Amino acid sequence: MSVELDLIIRGGELVTPGGVNRADLAVAEGRIVKIAPDIADAAAVTLDATGQMVFPGIIDAHVHFNEPGRTDWEGIATGSAALAAGGGSMFFDMPLNSEPPVLDAAAFREKRRLAEEKSCVDFALWGGLTPLNLDRLAALRDAGAIGLKAFMSHSGIDSFPRVDDRTLREGMKRAAKLGLLVAVHAEDEALAAKFTAAQRTRGKTDAAAWLASRPVEVELAAIRTATEIAGETGCALHIVHVSSPEGAALVDEARAMRVDVTAETCPHYLLLNDREVARIGAPAKCAPPIRDQKRRQALWAELRAGRIHTVGSDHSPAPAELKTSANFFENWGGIDGVQHGFQLLFSECRATAASDLPKLAAAMARNVARRFRIDGRKGILAEGMDADFCVIDFGPPRVIAAEELWTRHRMSAYVGKKCSARITDTYVRGHAVYARGRLVNLPEPGRFLRPA
Ligand SMILES: [Zn+2]
Repeated sequence: MSVELDLIIRGGELVTPGGVNRADLAVAEGRIVKIAPDIADAAAVTLDATGQMVFPGIIDAHVHFNEPGRTDWEGIATGSAALAAGGGSMFFDMPLNSEPPVLDAAAFREKRRLAEEKSCVDFALWGGLTPLNLDRLAALRDAGAIGLKAFMSHSGIDSFPRVDDRTLREGMKRAAKLGLLVAVHAEDEALAAKFTAAQRTRGKTDAAAWLASRPVEVELAAIRTATEIAGETGCALHIVHVSSPEGAALVDEARAMRVDVTAETCPHYLLLNDREVARIGAPAKCAPPIRDQKRRQALWAELRAGRIHTVGSDHSPAPAELKTSANFFENWGGIDGVQHGFQLLFSECRATAASDLPKLAAAMARNVARRFRIDGRKGILAEGMDADFCVIDFGPPRVIAAEELWTRHRMSAYVGKKCSARITDTYVRGHAVYARGRLVNLPEPGRFLRPA
């Protein structure tokens, strides 16, 4: 009995967390049905990937597409298109800066409806954990939230207030009972306020002053608090956008004490340093801020050692008008990086050690799928899994241009950077979303996933 094959990718180098191996990959009915050195069968479509890498579809667990409510900042159609052009086959959208923020089941369902209509890739949705919605966490779980997101410092959005330690403890106690993971933006509010006031007093408002207003200790204090509460409550904790090797080390210490905690970092902390923030300006403003070169390199070491578990873009764009102030503190923060951040990491790996690509396959796909309990279907190139993958072409370095961006504002911290990796194709459940460098006009709509 033979299966009718829809697609064969021939001759590519398949990247898995275990290594890189040349093989053919066959797809039927949206699933990977066979991986073997030479698949003799014919298929409806054949793609020659000789000399290219076939990488598991990136699962970006951290994006802000801001729909509904702030679609002038981004949107699900543009955001998911940019992700697909950058090799992504799935995103998890954060509960802010959409408006209303996702604090109850009604807001959750509305965002789900919009994404089912507009996303070209698969998706899951975060719910929020704030002082406003402690009694609605069960409803968010029932609606299918992938986890709950909380801010330990001011979020910048008044409709999404931060949690103090008491609220975080109560929220995590409830989340643990509901079997929900809690993700935190880990910066200590009181310390951030103290260092910010110090810069103000000195009359400093440039990029360097902004960086100095949120030193590493602001992040470390919050990670200590969050991991302590996770230990007390037994709640699964995910520290998003860890910016420093010291932060990763704290997470590792907590894990050694049997706290159920994982660490995410973002491409910008691995690709940029503080000097570049001064040069690039507001498009490179984010919190926690980008660190010095020594820390940037040490963060790579943490990723290689497996002490950073996932990499997410924290794509968080805003219109250019919000980023024009000479006072760096007044510029809206958030990096527009969903399309090129991952490609630049591929490029960097290839330049330094190609053996790091399997580490990226773990951090960008398998570990994300495992942590968020969608690993029954996603996260790895293996028979029986959803046929989610991208094809990477390594060539001479090119300079990233604003014109190639699919995001709403075509403004990225990475414009002008050299990149030797190029995504040529992205598939979601066996359907091309991005093919030979072009977005496919009418892809299958993305599907909603909830944790198993
Ligand atoms: Zn974020």
